[in-house]
Amino acid sequence: MSQQAHDFETQLIHAGEPRPGILGSVAMPIFQTSTFEDPHEHDYNAIRYTRLSNNPNQLALHDKLAALAGAEAALVSASGMATISNLLLSLLSPGDHLLMQNCVYGGTHTLITHELARFGITHQFIDAGDPASWPQPIPPKTRMIYVESMSNPLLEIPDFEAVVAYARKHGLLSVIDNTFASPYNFQPIPLGFDLEVHSATKYLNGHSDVIAGACMGSARLIETLLHKQNHFGGSLDPHAAFLLLRGLKTLAVRLTHQNATALEVAGYLDGHPALASVNYPGLEHHPRHRMAARHFRGFGGIVSFELKAGSDAARRLIDLLDLILFAPSLGGTESLIVKPATVVQSGLDAAERNAAGVGEGLLRFSTGLESSADLIADLKQALEKI
Ligand SMILES: *Cc1c(COP(=O)(O)O)cnc(C)c1O
Repeated sequence: MSQQAHDFETQLIHAGEPRPGILGSVAMPIFQTSTFEDPHEHDYNAIRYTRLSNNPNQLALHDKLAALAGAEAALVSASGMATISNLLLSLLSPGDHLLMQNCVYGGTHTLITHELARFGITHQFIDAGDPASWPQPIPPKTRMIYVESMSNPLLEIPDFEAVVAYARKHGLLSVIDNTFASPYNFQPIPLGFDLEVHSATKYLNGHSDVIAGACMGSARLIETLLHKQNHFGGSLDPHAAFLLLRGLKTLAVRLTHQNATALEVAGYLDGHPALASVNYPGLEHHPRHRMAARHFRGFGGIVSFELKAGSDAARRLIDLLDLILFAPSLGGTESLIVKPATVVQSGLDAAERNAAGVGEGLLRFSTGLESSADLIADLKQALEKI
């Protein structure tokens, strides 16, 4: 099927799906098998074995995700962190240097500061929204610049075009964690990023019932990452791959709803007397609102806000919420709230958190698929009582 000719919504449904369907099936069947018989093959590279990410459930995802990202190829993994660790350990070597957006996902932060450091891979944090502050001259052996499309939990937005231009000028690989935006809201590959990574656990699957990761990019880079993942072993289980393919089909309808709901919730929270700040790229006072509006189809489902009364009040608010569940993760059907100072950025100490701007009274809200009126009513009754 000529995938490029179709709209994103159509690709969500049809790209990568075997047609005609296997034994006539409309939905992709589950190939819950570790290995495949093939009496004629004696070449290791031709072996079909689920750890080698060539099970039909994995292959369908690779084709669908590549089409959605506007990329040549894709690779799924057992988790977002499996994708990110495979990428960093495969494309960086001892002595290499990495430029990293400050305030990234806590797991990625810890991976870089604790694990990569053990292998002699150095890093430095940069303000991804301020290209003038990026190192000039660039440190020798700098290989990669790594940013997130919306930072966690403050929803800061990098200067995307400047990242791509800086990477090209200095011969760096440009990598973006696009988990928070999802390919529905933002497509970094056509903009010139080399690799896009996702915690597919979040919006791509969208139902809080799968752990998975994905990476999209050029055929050459994905081929390298596939061979390394075959060694490191973080492949995605067929049943999880089946659920992810199924979840992906509703990405556009879910995100349409979540974009609209989050904008309403942010509008309600903005200016609330109990709050010191509200972070959402859809709000006009967000420092990158105009750039976000230029690049994003929607502003996403995540809103973070800081209570004036601090940590204890944030904790009380969580207890007072009725509908909104207190749980880490995001991008599912149930609205979730989390206190980033204690969960998301748990790899950071208090000083690092403060440097990153993550206050003790900060809460991160991930909108689900409930009605915006019910969610706002829940937040309202809780805010009135703290
Ligand atoms: C959750 C998350 C990850 C890690 O993904 P897992 O699937 O939990 O391993 C990485 N990056 C971002 C932005 C995330 O939100």
